[in-house]
Amino acid sequence: MKAYLVVLIDISWDDFNPLGISNMGNRIIVRKPPLQKCEKEVQLLLTFIKNTLKGKCVITPFSGIYCRSAFHEEPFISLWNQAVEQGGEIAIHTHEEIVEKGVIKDRIHYSNVIIQLLERLKNAGIEPCGYRGGHATYFNFLTKFLEELNLLIDLTSIPGFNKKSWSAVWSNTSLSAYYLCPFNHLVNCIHAQSNVLEIPLGFKGNKNDFRNYLWIEQADLNDLKSVWDSIVFRAERVGKPQIIYSLFHSHSMSKNKIVRRFSEFLEYASNHGGKIVTSKEARKIFNILNN
Ligand SMILES: [Zn+2]
Ligand SMILES: [Zn+2]
Repeated sequence: MKAYLVVLIDISWDDFNPLGISNMGNRIIVRKPPLQKCEKEVQLLLTFIKNTLKGKCVITPFSGIYCRSAFHEEPFISLWNQAVEQGGEIAIHTHEEIVEKGVIKDRIHYSNVIIQLLERLKNAGIEPCGYRGGHATYFNFLTKFLEELNLLIDLTSIPGFNKKSWSAVWSNTSLSAYYLCPFNHLVNCIHAQSNVLEIPLGFKGNKNDFRNYLWIEQADLNDLKSVWDSIVFRAERVGKPQIIYSLFHSHSMSKNKIVRRFSEFLEYASNHGGKIVTSKEARKIFNILNN
């Protein structure tokens, strides 16, 4: 196998762009989530995942300044349980952006939010597999904290992405999975590694252009295939399978063109040296490959 792909599904809705992250312009907008529409999209999504991925995916339900808990209450909690029953995983996901102000950087704030979300999921019988920071935001203080909470997989990294003001700095980071240093999330260094495995978004490795990532909404099918081929090529060159994730957003389930692109990409990856795995399977594979 050349590459192990974790299929990450971010729960989101149209008109949520507090910091202007996409390459569709810098339109800054935040509307409240249309919860009924979101619910329908998640139902479509679960059927899609079951049929296309045999249930294997990581779902990251939204929680942030503009919607703290709706996606951690019914009807969504039952849907996340269904996702787990059919073979998927749930990760804790925070969006602490404030429109026109930036990102909250306070350690206590993150501790409180993450513990609150963890409790909600655990009360519903769900053991989250790990963490993902919204908008690629990550702080070094999170690593030890995640370790203490047994959240041993992080899916925040977008290699090459660099927005200091959002604390979303992933320049010069590894293009395949690695254990985080407890003090500096970017480097492989002399410190003893933490127990938190970072899995990065699949990246071609050159220009920080959204078409160079396995980001289903931001690239067309040819771009995605080309990124995939470059990941497989890298695996051959370094003599080691690559472990990465692809990014898709639940609101795209309402857009047939993007759903088709997603399923065509998954088929291409599976037929070209790739295997779709959950994040926990990816962690086991990483440990075996590096022992
Ligand atoms: Zn998100
Ligand atoms: Zn270090």
